[in-house]
Amino acid sequence: MREKCSAFDFLDMQTIFRLSDRPVVRCMERWDNVMSVMQAPAGLAVKAPLIANSDLMSGKPSLIGLTREEMGEALAEIGVPQKQVKMRVSQLWNWLYVRGVSDFDNMTNVAKELREKLKAAFTIARPEIVEEQISNDGTRKWLMRFPPRGAGRPVEIEMVYIPEEGRGTLCISSQVGCSLTCSFCHTGTQRLVRNLTAEEILAQLLLARDRLGDFPDGSTPVGAYVPSEGRKVSNIVMMGMGEPLYNFEHVKTALLIATDGDGLSLSKRRVTLSTSGVVPEIFRTGDEIGVMLAISLHAVRDDLRDMLVPINKKYPLKELIEACRNYPGLSNARRITFEYVMLKDVNDSLEDAKMLVQLLKGVPAKINLIPFNPWPGTNYQCSDWAQIEKFADFINQAGYASPIRTPRGRDILAACGQLKSESERMRKTERLAFEAMMIANHGADD
Ligand code: SAH
Ligand code: SF4
Repeated sequence: MREKCSAFDFLDMQTIFRLSDRPVVRCMERWDNVMSVMQAPAGLAVKAPLIANSDLMSGKPSLIGLTREEMGEALAEIGVPQKQVKMRVSQLWNWLYVRGVSDFDNMTNVAKELREKLKAAFTIARPEIVEEQISNDGTRKWLMRFPPRGAGRPVEIEMVYIPEEGRGTLCISSQVGCSLTCSFCHTGTQRLVRNLTAEEILAQLLLARDRLGDFPDGSTPVGAYVPSEGRKVSNIVMMGMGEPLYNFEHVKTALLIATDGDGLSLSKRRVTLSTSGVVPEIFRTGDEIGVMLAISLHAVRDDLRDMLVPINKKYPLKELIEACRNYPGLSNARRITFEYVMLKDVNDSLEDAKMLVQLLKGVPAKINLIPFNPWPGTNYQCSDWAQIEKFADFINQAGYASPIRTPRGRDILAACGQLKSESERMRKTERLAFEAMMIANHGADD
């Protein structure tokens, strides 16, 4: 039951992002020159020349994002004796994921000779940060650059960190661009550039933990807004760019390391994978990865969903809901989140709300209403607040709780489902217009 009512209290997983009149901290910097930036008071712009990370650009394979078996094979190839391989893999996993080192020289219990061999053959360097923005309420957004794979060009993706009292949520990407073309999604207007590797997916989490001092020897930047106790990054939502289930193997490897007790040790209940509805991979997601599932539903009739989320033509609602019912581990304590973007006069009528409740009957579900986040060139508009309220009230009365989130002002453009690549950056005028709009973002529920 809702205890109080405000324009924002229908929000569950989202946090409201608004423009504030205070400037943001922006920087261009190299990775090992961050502390001055991290400690810069809000409102101060700090810029440094952009310097490429030579080790990562060297083309050496990374040890990050390998399964234990793959890492064992890699070590055997540089001459680690077979009977030592298992022990060395555990040692390296501990350094990489528990201690968070990004330099072989810090692996103090690994003999110098082996460290040199590792250094010559592999990299464990972090991706480069091109830009960082820190909102005056603590939300952080990073633009990261990954090296080219094969003949391609370097790629850039954005990542957002949303701190709250009891948790810190990181929104990460699975692809650069997206091959799907959901008509309300800005990423959908960009072509798919490529899948991210397991290393690159995991690197997003490692980088955020580095920046927030979330490893044992790390220190949290002065003045940073982070949860008051526990992990600084306690939750992950895979709601950045791309369709994670079209990059299943890499996403699986990365999330299994992120949730491995000897890896990054995140609780599987705190990792949410969002899909537009790639039905054949839904069962495997629960069975092989075991994380929480979110479905980008957005419409309750096939004719409308075909237009909003065109993958619906391939996997219509009936098949999607059936796959949800069969999601491994589903219970009232482990519900599926159904995301529903509120589009004015498109899907926001009370009739839609009624059909939504009917459609989800018997599925342990949470409904997450997302105010549409407009972008330049879109024909859609966000539903009126009053209409969103009515819609929310209806689904509340049908028994779907809408926990109240305190609205928080935001001064940086940071919205999951809106993260983009450098190649697709808006012109400054477009950006300013965009930033002047109220935008919505996701957090994650426990
Ligand atoms: N491809 C996956 C995950 C990334 S999108 C998926 O579609 O689920 C993450 C969420 O942001 C999805 O629910 C998506 O529908 C939503 N989203 C995309 N564009 C949006 C916009 N302009 N306003 C509000 N939500 C949006
Ligand atoms: Fe791709 Fe998801 Fe955007 Fe659809 S909503 S275009 S699947 S990122």
